[in-house]
Parts: sequence; C-alpha cells; structure tokens
Amino acid sequence: MISVAEALDQLFELTDLLGTETVSLLEANGRVLAEDVHANRDQPPFDSSAMDGYAVSAAKTGDVFRVIGEAAAGHRFNGIVGQGEAVRIFTGAPVPDGATQIVIQEDVSRSGDQITVTAELSENTHIRPSGGDFRAGDAVTAGRILGPNDIALMASMNIPQVPVARRPKVALISTGDELVMPGEVPNDDQIIASNTMGLHALLRDLGAEPRLLPIARDNEASLRTALEMAAGVDLIVTIGGASVGDHDVVANLAPKLGMTQSFYKVAMRPGKPLMAGRFGKAMMIGLPGNPVSAMVCGHVFVAPVIRAMLGLPTGATPRRRAVLAEDLPPNGPREHYMRARMTEDGLVAFGAQDSSLLSILNEADALIVRPSKDEARAKGISVEYIPIR
Ligand code: AMP
Ligand code: MG
Repeated sequence: MISVAEALDQLFELTDLLGTETVSLLEANGRVLAEDVHANRDQPPFDSSAMDGYAVSAAKTGDVFRVIGEAAAGHRFNGIVGQGEAVRIFTGAPVPDGATQIVIQEDVSRSGDQITVTAELSENTHIRPSGGDFRAGDAVTAGRILGPNDIALMASMNIPQVPVARRPKVALISTGDELVMPGEVPNDDQIIASNTMGLHALLRDLGAEPRLLPIARDNEASLRTALEMAAGVDLIVTIGGASVGDHDVVANLAPKLGMTQSFYKVAMRPGKPLMAGRFGKAMMIGLPGNPVSAMVCGHVFVAPVIRAMLGLPTGATPRRRAVLAEDLPPNGPREHYMRARMTEDGLVAFGAQDSSLLSILNEADALIVRPSKDEARAKGISVEYIPIR
C-alpha cells in the first residue's frame, strides 16, 4: 500500500497535458489561460477626465475663465486651452491640449460663458494619465483560472479571444448490479447511483467535461461495453468494484480488459481500494464505491489530476489550518480525512465517520487531514484541513 503523497506523484506521472483551443471572451470564464496575452493598446489611450467640470491650464480660488468649447466622452475638443480659457468637460473625455487640471463643476459658479472658481482647490488634477491603467504589451499571464475580473481586463486590452486549455473529457462509469439512476424506480434490492452524480458536479466545477456513461453491471461483458463507450476521453473514472470480492469487476477484470495498472490501494481512510493506470490512450482511475470514499477521493486525487491536465501547478489539493474545537483521538496507520464542521470555536469532527454516510459529508465543511499514526490532538491545537464547501 502506498501513501497519499506517493499516489499523487504516480497520478501526475500518468497525466498528460491537454492541448489548447481559442475561445471568445464570452466563453472564457472559468477556463485556464494557456498562453500569455498582451494588451493591444494603452488604457486610457489619452489623458482622460475623471470628473465633470472644466478643463483649464491652472486655477486657484477666485480665478475667472471664459468657456470656449466642450469635450464629452467620445467627442474630443480639438482646440487648445489658453490662459483664462476653459473647456466644459465630462468624465471620460480626452483632456484638451493646454489643459493641466479639471476644476470640478461643484467648485465653480457659471454665468453665461464665464466661470469663477469659488472653492479652495485640492491637489488632485482629476486627470487620469494616458497608460495609467496598463500599457500596450502588458501581459495577463498563462496558468491562471480566468474569472470575471480577468475578462474585464482583457476586454479593455482589446483581446476578443483567448487561448485556453482544452477541457479534459472524463468518462464516469458506475459499476454494480444494485444501482439505478436517480429518477428510476429501484427494486427492493437496489439503491441509487449517487457518486457519479456528485463527481460529475465536482468535475464540472473543476473545468472538465464529464460524461456519464450507462451503469456497468458486475460482469465482464458489461464492463467491457462501458469501457468501449469511453473511447476518446482523456480520463476514465470508474466507481465501485474496486475491492477484492468475487463481484468486484474493476479490480478483477480491468487489467484483463487492457488496463495497465500503476498502483492499487492507498493507505488512507476513507478510500483505500483506489487504483490508477492507463487504458488505451486514456488515463484511468478506479475509485472505491462507498459514496463518501468516492467523493473524498474526488477531492484528494481527481481534482489535482484535472488541474494538472489543465496546466495548473501540480500538487495536492490546497489545505488550510484551523484550531480544533474538540479533542481528537490518536489516528491509526492510514492517513484519515475526517469529515468536520467549522464552528466559531474551530473544527469539530463528526462522531460517525463511516464511508457510506453522505448525509454527514453534506453537513461537513472540511476534511481534517490526520497523518498516519498521528497522536491524540487536544482542543485548541491547529490542524490541517481541506475545505469542501
Ligand atoms: P463496491 O466497491 O462496488 O463494493 O461498492 C461499495 C459500496 O458502495 C456498496 O455498498 C455499493 O452499493 C456502493 N456503491 C458503489 N457504487 C456506487 C454508486 N455509484 N453510488 C452509490 N453507491 C455506490
Ligand atoms: Mg460493486
């Protein structure tokens, strides 16, 4: 049995970087920028007025100016502002030649085409200098997940399309004679396939393109059919059948059907019967069937793999630290990912940690990470956790 860290290293070795594609800015939210992009212009492209007021060359309280024209956003004033002259100006308009400051309209009184400065003026010229936001050639750098702020900036840079990492295509295959899809009517011996749905959501959130394949039954022909249907994907994720029981099709049959296995079994709780390898051109991860195990392995293993495929830095799912609000008993030999609640006083692990309890997982905000053979931890001590909300 290998450690979680060793399993992650082996997973990264199995992971291929995917190619890139170009998408419109309207489709770029949540995508990973694959190459640096550069501003096509300065912003603002000219000295620009930050306020509504009057553009003048220099002003102090009591000065009188004659208004010789107007500059509005999108409509520059083409003349020159001389001594004793002012141009009526609005926010976003180019500052006319000769003007060095904007006197805001609240600070003048106007009569006909004459204005008088009535207030004590501040140091602020109310001019946004050309290139003050960014200059032509300034970069937005690759390897970041684009969000609304990046998109606003790149739009301002006049970059209408961006190169992004292709979304990893992921096939999700539940295995089990006992499973039916949500919405179907189960017989007395059946339960609903839940993990594939949860993992589908997780994969979407990560920027992957998941495909839910039909449930594979616990026999060779059915598993073979499902694996054939997965042709063309980047990653195959199977769920269940990963232990060593008679009916555990993935563990028993996947190697026979063509999977080259890199590892099987990881020293962790929940999630021990995890396997990974390659199946044809795809990477393959076999997750345990117990619902919480599958979801925890999704957070701990599948998420870092998807990030690596997208060209984001390889590494374990980011952890944070918080104090314990209650004592924890010593941990056994396997790394333990304990479902916990975040309270005002810190983390509280749930009493029930059975790997079948989705209701507890759903109440949890965090997975406390207990190292192998961790000693008992007292209330008030700081521990590592993975946020899962
Ligand atoms: P297995 O690894 O196939 O032995 O499954 C372990 C446990 O997880 C069994 O109780 C299965 O019924 C359950 N299980 C397996 N796959 C799923 C699934 N997709 N959704 C919900 N429960 C599952
Ligand atoms: Mg099964």
